[in-house]
Amino acid sequence: CGIVGYVGSGEPDSRPERVIMGGLARLEYRGYDSAGIALVGNDPDRVAIAKRAGKLERLSTAIAEHPLPPSTAAIGHTRWATHGAPTDANAHPHLAAGGRLALIHNGIIENHHRLRDELMAQGVDFLSDTDTEVAAHLLATYVDQGLGLADAMRAVATRLEGAFTLLAVDVREPRTVVGARRNSPLVVGLGDGENFLGSDVVAFIEHTRTALELGQDEVVEITPTSVVVTDASGAVVEREPYHVDWDA
Ligand code: GLU
Repeated sequence: CGIVGYVGSGEPDSRPERVIMGGLARLEYRGYDSAGIALVGNDPDRVAIAKRAGKLERLSTAIAEHPLPPSTAAIGHTRWATHGAPTDANAHPHLAAGGRLALIHNGIIENHHRLRDELMAQGVDFLSDTDTEVAAHLLATYVDQGLGLADAMRAVATRLEGAFTLLAVDVREPRTVVGARRNSPLVVGLGDGENFLGSDVVAFIEHTRTALELGQDEVVEITPTSVVVTDASGAVVEREPYHVDWDA
């Protein structure tokens, strides 16, 4: 039940992984049953992921055994299972488009049955029992139709009923993380040559105290040097950042 996203400034390095794992540790107090991370590494065809049921320590151990590559963009998730048992397979991130993109989700997608039936009729294979996985495959559908990641995320959001904070990365846009929200929080953290996303400012407060909230049904695209917020129609939303002045 926590979400972190990060894009770093320059060449691939280990900072994205460290920022995500640090953010997940800070979000641990909220409770969770599984954790996972996805990052855009050195493979042009697949994002790198690691995910485990259980405590964050299990994820850290898995990463120590199979280190993740240097990267430019990463997302991380702690799960509180609502649909599907707390297993490694049901942990987020969920992959789609043959592993070219990965998505994480907090919340509940109420119309997941209908969407799953629709996607399965198109030949999509599902690897988990979660409601979330439909959003990953829908995103792939829109990206494959030629939409950029942010536009594809907006298209996905219009198809979903329920509550969601969603983040996604795609190897074809290695310096971008996109997010969307409805009835579930998402905050942007503004850095210098790097930017952050979190379900809570706690996720990135050790790196920046300049933040902006995403409104209902808005979509955000962060790169190392830009933050673009759009509404459900795709119109750009101008929002003033604020200073987070409490102690975390
Ligand atoms: N409904 C999703 C699942 O069960 C997300 C749960 C959460 O908010 O962590 O996987």
